[in-house]
Amino acid sequence: MVCDRRTWLDPDTPVSDDPRRVPIPPDGDEGRALLLRGGRVFDGVDGEVREGAILTWGREIADVNFSGDPPPGTEVVDVQGATVLPGLIDLHTHLTYHEPHVPVERAQCIADATLRALERMRFFLESGITSVRDAGSHRAVPFRLKEWVAQDRVPGPRVFPAGQLITGTGGHGAEGLSPLAPAHGKIREASGPHDWREAVREQFKMGADVIKVASHFSKEEIDAAVDEAHTLGLRVMCDAETFYIDRAVRAGVDVIEHPLPRTDEAIELMASRDISAVPTLIPYLIIFRRLGGYFHSTSRRFSFSAEDNLEVVRRMRRAGVRMGIGTDLVMDWFRMLPDAYITELEQFACAGFSRGEALLAATRHSAEILDMDHRLGTIEAGKLADLIVVTGEPDRNLRDLAQIDTVIRDGRIVIRDGSLEEPRHQAVHMDDLQ
Ligand SMILES: [Zn+2]
Repeated sequence: MVCDRRTWLDPDTPVSDDPRRVPIPPDGDEGRALLLRGGRVFDGVDGEVREGAILTWGREIADVNFSGDPPPGTEVVDVQGATVLPGLIDLHTHLTYHEPHVPVERAQCIADATLRALERMRFFLESGITSVRDAGSHRAVPFRLKEWVAQDRVPGPRVFPAGQLITGTGGHGAEGLSPLAPAHGKIREASGPHDWREAVREQFKMGADVIKVASHFSKEEIDAAVDEAHTLGLRVMCDAETFYIDRAVRAGVDVIEHPLPRTDEAIELMASRDISAVPTLIPYLIIFRRLGGYFHSTSRRFSFSAEDNLEVVRRMRRAGVRMGIGTDLVMDWFRMLPDAYITELEQFACAGFSRGEALLAATRHSAEILDMDHRLGTIEAGKLADLIVVTGEPDRNLRDLAQIDTVIRDGRIVIRDGSLEEPRHQAVHMDDLQ
């Protein structure tokens, strides 16, 4: 018998403990409508571009081939000369990570962590990224941000948090970690299968949408963590390398993060067991170029290079492993958005993806890896209205993705003419007080 809560749940049933929670409250604004017409549409279904006129109603896409007169009150957006795409997805972010050279007490400060995340969320949104998977952040911060974005109280992409990163004592992210080290608060060191299970439950209790684990771990530890996460209905994303990937794949993790060395056998198992990959090539390019290599890390003790990383992606592509886009822009690298995101897509192109396939990785396939493909990732009637309008033809020139004109999240224009649209606050009138 399969122990996974998801198998007992029709995703169309709105229940309170849906592990694939859509972080949106019930829509109180059903009358809101947008019509995007006159442009090209990359709908993310098959990588093709077609003509179309998209009508949104409330927070959902109502029609992708609308003709006739729009309902009264519809805002008509002329998208001539532009391409409409599904909102982009970034599967690997750390919203609260500190920037370099900040004092330890500021790096750990929850107020600072929240403000750092708020600044980053604007960069993501203005880059056309409407969903992010947070792969480890400080304590409650990503969970609260998820709620506040869903309630339109702060601007940002949808946040799907993992909570704390779980690793073995002294493992990735916890190298030499002391209570005063900057990573404190976003890492959960665990030791032994029982404690790994407990660490998963702690993130579940906070409201995690996914569990993030990192090497090192024993076979018994990763088996326990994956069993616990799946039983709770959560997927597992895993930062690992070498034989740890074999262990993770055999344990049944759902996604392997990063382009780190792995055996052909592991790649074959990933393909045959439908285990996805988020290669995150861009942070390694930055590290190799800026720092010359990995230092002060016990979890990156192997030889690799930018070319080796690309080769891992090529091997996974040949084997038929599904891949999505993640940028893992730690430190102050978020300031390189949208360039960094586009460069990740160009790296996919270097590994043999067509431009259309790279865009599918950024949309449909990333939504599948997020376990949200029933609501996100393509432009189809009934899905959530997360749309971007890009001047140009990004399916022919990926660099056109830098020309973000409009971003729509939940059927609401959040970026207009390339920058944040902040509606005036909704004031409560004194007369309404009893
Ligand atoms: Zn990361």
